[in-house]
Amino acid sequence: MNENIDKKLTNSAEQALDNEIPDSLLSASIELKICKDKWFGIFNKKAKKEIQWLCVFDKTATENDFEFGEIAGSEIIADFSSEFGINEMFEKNDLNQDSRVLKNVIYQRLDSSFTERETEEQKWIIENNYCEQCEKTDTGLNSPIEYKFKGKLYVKGNCKVCGNSCLTEIETIDD
Ligand SMILES: [Zn+2]
Repeated sequence: MNENIDKKLTNSAEQALDNEIPDSLLSASIELKICKDKWFGIFNKKAKKEIQWLCVFDKTATENDFEFGEIAGSEIIADFSSEFGINEMFEKNDLNQDSRVLKNVIYQRLDSSFTERETEEQKWIIENNYCEQCEKTDTGLNSPIEYKFKGKLYVKGNCKVCGNSCLTEIETIDD
């Protein structure tokens, strides 16, 4: 049952985030918490099922970015029956710290993973993009951000010619 609920939570959250994800988002994660209310020392028989939805942002996060997390949260809870509740948590974090994550990690920005790539590889990734706005390959990217989503690695950046946001999926050799 637990594996199923994790799968359902993951699918639902992946769909909710399948949008223009704000650059300031460091991680998004989800898990189920069973809350047993205690009344006068006796446990209430009906445990509450509460979805924990955590979005951690960096210091540059704006009200709109938090709103993105809220909208995703309402899309997630809409996938579940009325016996479920949701606890939405939006946090700001320093870039230097590891961000707190829950059991099922949906989205994770991987800043150090990009900077730890060899210079040649970073250069290759930045130069080999496709811009939908320019309808051209290899326009180059400014401010690249590497992240993991739906089990795949991506680099997102702004086209050096027109500034449009471009997405490149990175081929992973191992695993
Ligand atoms: Zn462009």
